[in-house]
Amino acid sequence: MAVQWFPGHMNKARRIIKQTMSDVDLVIEVMDARIPYSSENPLVDELRRDRPCIKLLNKSDLADPAVTAQWIAYFEKKLGVKAMEISVLDRKQVSAIPGLCRKMLPERGTAVKDIRVMIMGIPNVGKSTLINTLAGKTIAKVGDEPAVTKDVSSAQQRIRLEGNISLADTPGILWPKIENPASGYRLAITGAIKNTAIDFEDIALFAADYLRQAYPERLQQRYKLEQPGDSDIAVLENVGRKRGCLRAGGVIDLQRAAEILVHDIRSGALGRLSMETPQMVEQEIAELEQANDEPASAERGGDKEKP
Ligand code: GDP
Repeated sequence: MAVQWFPGHMNKARRIIKQTMSDVDLVIEVMDARIPYSSENPLVDELRRDRPCIKLLNKSDLADPAVTAQWIAYFEKKLGVKAMEISVLDRKQVSAIPGLCRKMLPERGTAVKDIRVMIMGIPNVGKSTLINTLAGKTIAKVGDEPAVTKDVSSAQQRIRLEGNISLADTPGILWPKIENPASGYRLAITGAIKNTAIDFEDIALFAADYLRQAYPERLQQRYKLEQPGDSDIAVLENVGRKRGCLRAGGVIDLQRAAEILVHDIRSGALGRLSMETPQMVEQEIAELEQANDEPASAERGGDKEKP
C-alpha cells in the first residue's frame, strides 16, 4: 500500500532526536503490541547508541498474548534492551516503569543524578497516555487520530517522578516504518495512519487474507460463518452478506463490509489479535532484500526513499 511520508518530517525528526539525545539517559520506545515490528522505528536504536532502552509493547490488551511473548524474546536479543508488554490504560502496570528504569541504570537515580527519560514512538501508540499516567495528571494531549506534525519542542519541560527520575513532557514522535508494503497495511489497519489517507477496501482485503489464515475461528464466531472464506474477497463478501451490507440489486457493498471488519479489528471485537509474528517479518525482510538486489529494482535505484 502506498503511504506518503514527507522526507522533511524524517530529516526533522532525526535532527531533533540527535539534539535531544545528549540530555537523555534512558529511552522508552512505545510500540503497538499488535504490530511490534511495523510500529518500531530503527532510528531509536541508531541514535540511542549505548543508552539503555525499554521497549514497551503497548495495547497488549488488544494483542495475542502468545505472539507478544515471541516478540519480547525477539527484542531482548538487542543489546541494552528490556522489552515488556503493557497496557498504559492500566495505572498499576505503568507504576512498574520507574522501578525498571532504576534497575537498568543503578548508578543514576540518586539525589545528585536524575535518570533523564525520554518517551518515543510513532503516532497513536500511546505515548501521551503513558506520560499522563506517569505524571498523574494531564500533560500531553491524547487523541484517537494519529498526528504527524507535532514534534519535540525545544522548550521542553521535565516532570519529576518518584525515585529521582525526570521525564521529558513531550514525546519524541517518529515516522512509521513503511518500506515494507505489508507494514504499511498493518499500520493502517491498526489505526496508526490517518483514516483520510486510507482506502478501507484495500486494507480490509489485506486484513481478511491474513485473518482467514491466522485466526479463521475468530471470523467464524464473530460473523456466524460456517467457513471464513477461501480468499480475501470471499471473506469480505461473507462479512457483508451477514451484516446486510447490500446495494441495489443485492450486490454486496464491499466498502461498508470493509469498514465493519477494520472497526472490529481495531476495537478488539474480534478478540486479541496480532497482525505480525517475528517469523512472518523475517521472511518479508528477506523477500524485500532479494527484490532490492534484482537488476530491475537496481535500475530504478533512486525511488527507494531513505530517511
Ligand atoms: P500517542 O499518539 O502515541 O500519544 O497516543 P495516545 O496516547 O494519544 O493514544 C492513542 C489512542 O490509543 C487513544 O485513543 C488511547 O486511549 C489509546 N490507547 C493508548 N494506550 C492503550 C492501551 O494500552 N490499550 C488500548 N486498548 N488503547 C490504548
